[in-house]
Amino acid sequence: MRLLRLLGMALAGSALAASISGWAQNPNDGGKLKVYFIDVEGGQATLWVTPANQALLIDAGWGGNEGRDADRIAAAVKDAGLKKIDYALITHYHTDHVGGVPQLLEKVPVGAFIDHGPNREEDPSPEKEYATYEKTLAAANIRRILAKPGDVLPIVGMKAKVVSTDGKLISRSLDGEARINALCKAAETPAPDTTENARSVGIAVSFGKLTILDLGDLTRDKEKELMCPENKLGKVDVYVVSHHGWLQSSSPVLVNSIGAKVAIMNNGARKGGSPSVINTIMKAPELETLWQLHFSEEGGEDNNADDDYIANLEGPDKGNYLELIGKGDGSFDVMNSRTGQVKHYHQQAGH
Ligand SMILES: [Zn+2]
Repeated sequence: MRLLRLLGMALAGSALAASISGWAQNPNDGGKLKVYFIDVEGGQATLWVTPANQALLIDAGWGGNEGRDADRIAAAVKDAGLKKIDYALITHYHTDHVGGVPQLLEKVPVGAFIDHGPNREEDPSPEKEYATYEKTLAAANIRRILAKPGDVLPIVGMKAKVVSTDGKLISRSLDGEARINALCKAAETPAPDTTENARSVGIAVSFGKLTILDLGDLTRDKEKELMCPENKLGKVDVYVVSHHGWLQSSSPVLVNSIGAKVAIMNNGARKGGSPSVINTIMKAPELETLWQLHFSEEGGEDNNADDDYIANLEGPDKGNYLELIGKGDGSFDVMNSRTGQVKHYHQQAGH
């Protein structure tokens, strides 16, 4: 009897040890994924914090403005209880994405940067931004990791797979299934984009059953390649609206094929937030909520989400953010820092 009890205790002890050591790798065991959609006024800065307390920042917002964007990123890092960012992914070399890097490094240490390689756009602005980026990282002796299609980023606690980088895309679908896309027949064929936008590093994130897509500023020509003739991305739960909701991205064939339940748009009051894109997203059959960092002035009364789902309404800028808190079972919450209100989304069948 005593032996059996001892044996039972030993078994219980080993089960506990297994669940603790497996926690970082298996988000279904109760850990949560936090994603901060930081308001950088129509640029991008998205901070992902995993249950393993690792952080991935996608883009650093703009430079200048007395370090406004770096301050806002540092505030999110602090809110997450962290003191450093493990990885910063720079989607491309436009100033609203890479411009904030020097100021960021003055405020928050970054372990390594991930990017698509050299700037490819012959234009003085990205050429200058890229030169500054290279010089800043070299001076601080920070490692650069080159993203290739199909790579899984080294961050622990979520799976982030590179689906686009330097104009190249994954050649097969994420789950290995060939999925001929019926929506391709009606899809327009956009002209090739020759800017850095089309070079954006895009990632598909999975956290247990929860899936989130962030394609940076990837343009419609590349969206069609990802969606046609096969939908290589399958369905996702959350779509981080590409390109701040500007009409060069978020084609109907992308938005309608990925079937997101929630879309989160990092627009400014007067940057991104094109009425046609807001319309396409709102009309998507599976969409429940579009969240916006700003009220889009161009969208006016008819083409904006309800106020509850907008972090910054018209008027003086407050820098309010949106935060997603995800669970491995596929359910998640989205919080508006302006109101403190939270909306819950249940696990989605078939995603
Ligand atoms: Zn941009």
